[in-house]
Amino acid sequence: MAQLYIGLGTNIGDKKKNITNATIIIGSILGDIRTLSSLYETEPWGYESENKFLNAVILVETQIEPMKCLEIAQAIEREMGRVHTKEGYEDRIIDVDLLFYDNQVIESERLTIPHPLITQRDFVLRPMAEIAPKFVHPVLGETMEALLEKLPQNK
Ligand code: ADP
Ligand code: MG
Repeated sequence: MAQLYIGLGTNIGDKKKNITNATIIIGSILGDIRTLSSLYETEPWGYESENKFLNAVILVETQIEPMKCLEIAQAIEREMGRVHTKEGYEDRIIDVDLLFYDNQVIESERLTIPHPLITQRDFVLRPMAEIAPKFVHPVLGETMEALLEKLPQNK
């Protein structure tokens, strides 16, 4: 069994419901949900939008390989109605990001694990530090709580 941390984000529609629905679907396809963080309301990151985000991190125990997990995550995004309309960041019903897969380090064209932006994103680090404060980033060798401490304010 692998411990897979997944970051969820949504900024359109009934956001709580979007997070709940994604969690239910993930639980039924990828594996048992072991932990669910609180929901964090955050400002859009990397682009301008009036729609605030709701973010959360979940811990899933899975037997499915990372690449297949990515395909499933993207299928869930499509199934829930996420539409890519332009390059870069945009409003979305659901964003499903694979943050950590045990201590694995993966760098392929389609998949980078640990997710490259974890250390810059307060809305990922805060829920990660909430549910797994002592989890050590396999590349940086620092815990989630230490990384959160280092994050510049309001990023
Ligand atoms: P973002 O999550 O940064 O807002 P997208 O959800 O649109 O952006 O993802 C863009 C691309 O990121 C996807 O096509 C996917 O192949 C790639 N990707 C690379 N590593 C990961 C990862 N760990 N989790 C999710 N997507 C990833
Ligand atoms: Mg994504």
